[in-house]
Amino acid sequence: MDRALREARLAAERGEVPIGAVIVGPDGAILAAAGNRTEEMRDPTAHAEMLVIRAAAAQLGAPRLVDCDLHVTLEPCPMCAQAISFARIRRLYWGAADPKGGGIEHGPRIFDQPTCHHKPELYPGIAEAEAGELLRAFFRERR
Ligand SMILES: [Zn+2]
Repeated sequence: MDRALREARLAAERGEVPIGAVIVGPDGAILAAAGNRTEEMRDPTAHAEMLVIRAAAAQLGAPRLVDCDLHVTLEPCPMCAQAISFARIRRLYWGAADPKGGGIEHGPRIFDQPTCHHKPELYPGIAEAEAGELLRAFFRERR
């Protein structure tokens, strides 16, 4: 999660919403790390989670990230939650809760839907204070 927080800080420096994500492979090595790049890439789907899923899948040469774990600084949105399910992520760790945009414990609760065929093990609230403070500081500055 330290690496994910670092990616979130780097995203903030680029003017992106400070969210960072990391995928750890079956052997415990980091396969991919990224922060949000929606502004830079002019891509509304370039959330940190989507970028690490794409990068890890490319690296493994497989569309399913079996026995891989994803760490992200904020509760994933519905799009990313569904992508995490499609990717067959084993364990999902996240930092701050996102009552406004989250899709796991809030909103559509993607993993609880009958249309969701893979639910990772969930570990919310990891380094929650730091992850939340990064976001609050970013939006304070913007106002
Ligand atoms: Zn997302």
